[in-house]
Amino acid sequence: MTFPSPTDPRITPIPAAATDLARVLAGHELTRSTCTRPIRLVGSRTLVHRATGEIVHDFHSAHQPNSMITVPCGNRRHTVCPSCSTLYKYDAYHLIAAGLRGGKNTTPTVAAHPRIFVTLTAPSFGPVHLGPAKNGNPRPCGPRRTGPDCHTWHPVGDPLIGTPLDPGTYDYTGHVLFNAYAGALWSRFTTETRRTLADLAGIERRDLRTVTTVAFAKVAEYQTRGVVHFHAVIRLDGANGPGSTAPARMTTALLTRSVRTAAKRTTVTTPSPGAMSFRTLRWGRQLDIRTIGSSDDDDSALSDAVVARYVAKYATKGTEASGIADLRPLPCRTCDGQGLQVKPTEPGKLQRPCPDCHGLGRSTTWAALGLSNHALTLVRTCWKLGGREELAGLRLRRWAHTFGFRGHFATKSRSYSTTFGALRDERAAYTAAQRDQALGLPSSADLVVVNDWHYAGRGPLPDTPTPAPPGQVSQEPAAASAGGGR
Ligand SMILES: [Zn+2]
Ligand SMILES: [Zn+2]
Ligand SMILES: [Zn+2]
Repeated sequence: MTFPSPTDPRITPIPAAATDLARVLAGHELTRSTCTRPIRLVGSRTLVHRATGEIVHDFHSAHQPNSMITVPCGNRRHTVCPSCSTLYKYDAYHLIAAGLRGGKNTTPTVAAHPRIFVTLTAPSFGPVHLGPAKNGNPRPCGPRRTGPDCHTWHPVGDPLIGTPLDPGTYDYTGHVLFNAYAGALWSRFTTETRRTLADLAGIERRDLRTVTTVAFAKVAEYQTRGVVHFHAVIRLDGANGPGSTAPARMTTALLTRSVRTAAKRTTVTTPSPGAMSFRTLRWGRQLDIRTIGSSDDDDSALSDAVVARYVAKYATKGTEASGIADLRPLPCRTCDGQGLQVKPTEPGKLQRPCPDCHGLGRSTTWAALGLSNHALTLVRTCWKLGGREELAGLRLRRWAHTFGFRGHFATKSRSYSTTFGALRDERAAYTAAQRDQALGLPSSADLVVVNDWHYAGRGPLPDTPTPAPPGQVSQEPAAASAGGGR
């Protein structure tokens, strides 16, 4: 696998101006003015002086144009809301960068700790049509040693790219199960990495935590064929976390060896539903490990900024690479995908079909989804396997629209750096302070904020006045911002 170079045009640069303050300001102004699907709220916010009990400020949506206010949707995906997604990208950048060079309450000494950037891929489930190489150069699809061949030079955007050469023999079940168990596989991989690290360092496994802490931050990315893979930053700290240093023998080389071995050893075994035998799932053979930071003897080392940008970029993507960006969860809400009336009828009588989906369990027909054959087969495989009791825990029907993957797109171990929540809180506090200052109110420490807001629908308000220029006080309640994430 080739890794994009820092100058790769596919890595969208985060503007240099996206410093901390710019992130806060841009975030606020950006989403307030341009969120494509804001949440409408009605209600009030009252500010009460903590010591005197006096109401110092009262804000009612009833006095606003349209009698309501809007708050940004907070969605992380670019295809859903470009402006909220940009904000999320800034946050993801700062979260990852803080774990690499400090900042946001993380000590800058982490920059000297062993740090690597790892890409864990999925195995093959059958040959798929290949597009141009990562550097954009055209290449022929195949030839392959065995099986069917294509020989076409597929141009960028060819819908055939990522679809099976032979759909009849493609392992759709394995593909869907890999997505469904990818989170479990990742979790076992982190455990296996710690164990291997202890073994290689000659430490009892249970004593590893008295010597070093392994910190992780990962993002999931969909490949064109519709399978997830993971990009992860892995860092070695001392026993007391980011502020402490691991012993000298805990080197980048040792961490790299541990990850390589752990990736090979990690497996998850599935139950065996019906006539299907159990399967052992593992990572694909392609494993890319790069050192982060300057290293004189490693030309392939990546800089902090490149890694942070790369992760931030993938944190705002969903399934769009596989052509199913706008798919919503399929199960009928009334019967939760069961196809039967949820309320029990008279005892002894058969359950009647759900009146809303006519017993189908989903609110739409397969044809109405308008998917490619490959995407539709993945969705239908999820639906079929989702009906198996042994696989109930995977909730494959609920997650058919993401080809079975139900994990979080961005996750990290607690000690890695700050959190998305802390970054959002920081922004909300800044906005509130700005508002209070403009209204001539006491400092927020002296105020009790009473929020009473109710959902009133979605979408921009008609005839919304042009947003206030930066610096002018907002009419939004800062505390009523919608949390984003998934
Ligand atoms: Zn939005
Ligand atoms: Zn082809
Ligand atoms: Zn139903």
